[in-house]
Amino acid sequence: MMIDGIEAINVRLPLLDDKGFYTVTIRDGKFTAVERQENFIVSPVHKPIGQLGFEELKTAAWLDMEGKAMLPGFVDAHMHLDKAYSLPWVRNRTGTLLEAIVNYRSVAPSFTKEVIRERIVKASLRAASYGSAVLRSHLDVPVHLGRDIAMRTIEAALEAREIVNGALDIQYFPIFYFDQAKEREWTDFAAEALRIGIDGVGGAPHLSPDPQASLAWAFKLATAFDKPVDLHTDESDDPSVKTIEVYCEHAERFGYAGRATAGHLCSLSAMEQDEAERLIARMAECGIAAVTLPAVNLYLQGRGDRGNVRRGVTRVRELLEAGVLVAAASDNIQDPFHPFGRGDMLQNGLMTAYAAHMAREEDIGTVLRMLTSIPAAITGVADYGIAPGNPARFVVLDAVSAEELLQELPAGRWVYNKAKWTFASRFSRSGFEAAMPEEAASPPRAVPTD
Ligand SMILES: [Zn+2]
Repeated sequence: MMIDGIEAINVRLPLLDDKGFYTVTIRDGKFTAVERQENFIVSPVHKPIGQLGFEELKTAAWLDMEGKAMLPGFVDAHMHLDKAYSLPWVRNRTGTLLEAIVNYRSVAPSFTKEVIRERIVKASLRAASYGSAVLRSHLDVPVHLGRDIAMRTIEAALEAREIVNGALDIQYFPIFYFDQAKEREWTDFAAEALRIGIDGVGGAPHLSPDPQASLAWAFKLATAFDKPVDLHTDESDDPSVKTIEVYCEHAERFGYAGRATAGHLCSLSAMEQDEAERLIARMAECGIAAVTLPAVNLYLQGRGDRGNVRRGVTRVRELLEAGVLVAAASDNIQDPFHPFGRGDMLQNGLMTAYAAHMAREEDIGTVLRMLTSIPAAITGVADYGIAPGNPARFVVLDAVSAEELLQELPAGRWVYNKAKWTFASRFSRSGFEAAMPEEAASPPRAVPTD
């Protein structure tokens, strides 16, 4: 049965304020009202969400969110959906970026379109089940191994997007690799990919033998097709790697402020303070956004170090303070570039809080924005957020505060997108019950205020 509207009471909105309760109404897939309640409401007609199975949830018009947190659907601005879950086929003994690239390339030709499509579907639906509404995925397109091998990934990606379209949105940015000797082949391939539905120009200029030419070519493509640019940038421990500087020049020259994104920026963290500050100021000036990928950087970087091992994570706090948009994202999931992860943005938030030293009470809200509104702005998602008139895409999480979201990474999540509930996961722990003496009762869990 389809229902034409939902009224949800006792909603917490940690991005708005961490104390009050709200009533949120939805009609025709859009938020129609978000109103602060005077108090926690006890209602016999609203059904407690924690007690509903998925089928009951789908038909419930009156819901009691029981003080749980609602966030706008996460935006994971940097993933590699085509590689996700490939670890059983491709290992990485040294844990270095170089071995990951070499090993993946050695088996890439053996992955059929169907296998790649299946991995994208699995990875994107998992991410959606944890609360992601929009994903931006880079794609491996090794044209030098054969145009058909590269095009197979593009086709798999476009087909997978159609399959999961009812649950979430995906943007694709293939990692175009500039090679002077094969410029024509690469340009033809990239042009076709952009014509048939690819969203933007990706790349990794710091891995190119000629980073300058690589950046110039990326912007030539992007401007010709009027597409945004999102580049793997300076994913290296070496402080002399500074392609970000040339990236800034191009973004400025072609008026790409707000449409250019730099992922990783590892070398920035290895540089001298003055130099890092200069480049951060340039990024702010040119309107280049940053995406930090803490899990993968912690895994792949610093592999040559002994003792004081560099962590590779970029200067998140300094970038934010300079006014650069900084999102946190997944990068790789269970592949040779990163054996862990599950596409859960809260996990990325927790990694960011550790790696960027952002765990003060006031930092938690920033970390949550790095998973939601900031990547929404970076990826150009319009009408984003829990506000009247916007599409209702949100996740309800079994936590009562912003801090508890990162403390508990709650398993209980209810996801709504595209005018319907798309996923629900409940979790209750039962088992040993300790008989506590009265006087030793533990302090109450955070209780509703107001
Ligand atoms: Zn990446």
